[in-house]
Amino acid sequence: MKANYLIRASLLVTLNFFWLMGNTQTIGIDGPFMDQLLKIKAELFSSPEYSNQEKQTAEIVLKHLNETKPDFLHKNVGGYGIIAGYKGNLPGPSVMFRCELDAIKTEKGNEHLCGHDGHMTILLGLSKIVSADRNFHGTIWLLFQPAEEIGEGAARMVKDMEAMGLRFDYSFAIHNSPKFDLNSVVIHEGVYAAGSVGMEIHFKGSPSHAAYPHQAVSPYNALIETAAYMQSLNKAENVFQGFILGTVVNMTLGEINYGVTPGEGYLRMTLRSFIDPDLDKLCALMEEFARKKAAEQGLEVRFAFFDRFPATVNDTKANEMVVAAAKAENLGIIYAKEPTRGSDDFAFFATSSTSSYFNIGNGKGADIHTVGYKFSPGIIETALKLYRNLIYNVKIQN
Ligand SMILES: [Zn+2]
Ligand SMILES: [Zn+2]
Repeated sequence: MKANYLIRASLLVTLNFFWLMGNTQTIGIDGPFMDQLLKIKAELFSSPEYSNQEKQTAEIVLKHLNETKPDFLHKNVGGYGIIAGYKGNLPGPSVMFRCELDAIKTEKGNEHLCGHDGHMTILLGLSKIVSADRNFHGTIWLLFQPAEEIGEGAARMVKDMEAMGLRFDYSFAIHNSPKFDLNSVVIHEGVYAAGSVGMEIHFKGSPSHAAYPHQAVSPYNALIETAAYMQSLNKAENVFQGFILGTVVNMTLGEINYGVTPGEGYLRMTLRSFIDPDLDKLCALMEEFARKKAAEQGLEVRFAFFDRFPATVNDTKANEMVVAAAKAENLGIIYAKEPTRGSDDFAFFATSSTSSYFNIGNGKGADIHTVGYKFSPGIIETALKLYRNLIYNVKIQN
C-alpha cells in the first residue's frame, strides 16, 4: 500500500504543467496540423528506399527540418543519417528521439511495410512543435537513422557521433505494432528486444572419389551432430538464465559433383537471447561442441561471427517517464508479457544512454513486413501527444 502511494506521489511531483512554464507559442495537435503531417507522410511513403540508399528520403527530411530552423543540423551521419538539435530555454539534459529512414525490399520493389514513413512523420511533427515553443528543459535531438532493417545504421551513427563529441543523456523510440489495439502504449519492462549474432562454423577435412568414401575426411557427421546439438540447446533447461533460440539458416556440404566425397562444409546459424551473457554462453557452447567433433573426426574447424546486436534493454526511469506522459493523455497502457524476439539496433543507442523503446498499437492486422500491412495514421497524433507531454510536462531529470 505504502509503496504504491509513494510511486503515485512521485509521478505527480514530476509533472509540471504548461501554465507553469510561462508564455508559449504552442502548436496545437489539431486537424490542420495533422493534415499538414499526413501530406508529409504521403511524400515519404511514395519514395521508399532500401537500407543504405535513403538519399531522396533524407532530402525530404532535410527540406522539412530546415523550415524549423534547428540550432544544430548534422547530415550524413553513419550514412544518410540526420540529427537535428533544438535548445530549450531551461537547463537540462540532452534528450534524443529516434526514427528510421529505410523501407524494405519486396517483390514489388521497395515498400514502406514497417511504418518507418509514419515514424519519420512523427519526428517531423515534433520538430515543428519544439521549434515553435522553446519552454522546455535541455536540448531535444531528433535522429533519423539509416539502414535499420539490415541493422547497420545505429552502430555507424554512434561511431560518427563519438567523433563529433555528441552524446545523449536520454533516448526514446517508438515502433508501431500490429499485435496490439490501436493507440495503446506497450511498455517493455527490462528487455525490449533480443540480442543476436550470426555464427558460421566451417569444418574442413579432405575429399576423395565418391567410390572410396572411406579415403575422405568428410565433415558430414560433424555438421549434422553440431546442428542437432544446437536444437538440443533450444530445449535445454537450467542452462541459460532466460530465453535463447538458435536457428539454422544455411548448411552446405561439398559441391554438386556426383564423383566426389566432400571434404568441407559450413553450418550457419542465427543465435539469439534476451540476456547478453546467455548469448555469449550459447556461442561458447556451440564452439566447444564443434571443436570436440572436429578433434574426434580429424577435421579442422574455424568460426566466424556476423551482425552482433546487443539486447535492447529499457531503463526503469525512462519507462516511468513514458508511462507518466501516456497517462496524462489518458492513453491505454499495456505491459508486454515478453520481449520481442527480433533484434533492433536501437540497442546501440540504448547501451549509451537512459532509454525507453516502446510500441504503439497499430490496431490488430497484417504484421509488419507482410503483404497487407498498413501504418495506421492515428498513431502520429498519439505519439506526438505523448512526446509533447514527455518534453514539456514530465520533468526529465539530469
Ligand atoms: Zn522492419
Ligand atoms: Zn521497423
